Amino acid sequence: MTPETPSPITMPLPSALAAVESEIARACRDARRDRASVTLIAVSKTFDADAITPVIAAGQRVFGENRVQEAKAKWPGLISAYPGIALHLIGPLQSNKAKEAVALFDAIHSIDRPSICEALAKEIVSQKRQLELFVQINTGEEPQKAGVAPGEADAFIANCREKYGLAISGLMCIPPVNDAPAPHFALTAKIAARNGLKNLSMGMSADFAVAIQFGATHVRVGSAIFGKR
Ligand SMILES: *Cc1c(COP(=O)(O)O)cnc(C)c1O
Repeated sequence: MTPETPSPITMPLPSALAAVESEIARACRDARRDRASVTLIAVSKTFDADAITPVIAAGQRVFGENRVQEAKAKWPGLISAYPGIALHLIGPLQSNKAKEAVALFDAIHSIDRPSICEALAKEIVSQKRQLELFVQINTGEEPQKAGVAPGEADAFIANCREKYGLAISGLMCIPPVNDAPAPHFALTAKIAARNGLKNLSMGMSADFAVAIQFGATHVRVGSAIFGKR
């Protein structure tokens, strides 16, 4: 008699992912928004393929990374093994990495200067790729932080569209660590609305429910899913 082989079972949702999912669902209900209007980006930076695989197995398909080189080292294998993965670049981009970034990522959240616009526009055309593009707004006007100053946002977005032909679909912000995030989310939403942009990439582990209240369409959640970095 052959030993019984274990039947394939559905892997239980890792509990942290399930907790984030239920918090998103609750925030959507409170804001009277459709759950489908919010995309959860699981931020896997610093975590290796072994840590990421159970999250993919639990059904998560959208992931965020903040470095092109790190993403290149771990994602191509996972992308070929699991269909339907979408990768978002949420960290700063250097012009000389634009070619690799356009080839690997499905979305870029960190557009904030003309040199990046130019490099991305060239690669998007030559690689015939369609990416979701976000302009990063430095809502706290922090000198050390990337992003366009709020006062320069309208002109920058117009330039992205008219001069570089980039189909910008939304804005991204990272509020200052010691500030209440709500005013930063509200400001980002206001700039997006007056520029006809429908996507809002805002909210991290500590504040994604607040971000959903302010209209976030993409929440970028790392440590609440993967644990401490
Ligand atoms: C790391 C990172 C996140 C996720 O942060 P957590 O606090 O771990 O959820 C979100 N957005 C950006 C831009 C990041 O670099």
